[in-house]
Amino acid sequence: MTDTDTADASTSAPAQIPLVDYLVLDDGEPHLVAHECTSCGARFFDHRNGCASCFATEFTIVPVANEGTLRTFTIVAFAAPGIPVPFVAGVVDCDGTSVRANVVNTEPDPEHITVGMPVHLTTFPIGDDANGTAAIGFGYEPTGAVTP
Ligand SMILES: [Zn+2]
Repeated sequence: MTDTDTADASTSAPAQIPLVDYLVLDDGEPHLVAHECTSCGARFFDHRNGCASCFATEFTIVPVANEGTLRTFTIVAFAAPGIPVPFVAGVVDCDGTSVRANVVNTEPDPEHITVGMPVHLTTFPIGDDANGTAAIGFGYEPTGAVTP
């Protein structure tokens, strides 16, 4: 979250803003974007000056697939005050790109969550700021899960 000069408040604020800058909300379906090394193809979500794999310094922004496979997960039972538990922290393989995210919209137990299960990107509001702008977070929910 960056501080902006309140003098710029006249510019129309978006109704919602992504919680992380690699979540794109205003270009079709919500999706993630990654910095892809133009030399070796390694992908990173944070901004880097050099590739951790090959030390090249050129990156392009690429969209990340919304469909993925849950590679590993942890059911988190203890967290900082104010954070509801349990929740599921996972790593999702999205067509070759590893994404750390929570698994949401399912029961947080081993009966409902398994390694290798298909998941897809979903977004949800985290909360509103003083101007009523909604912060949007993301997670992955089981694909094909039907919740009545
Ligand atoms: Zn590289």
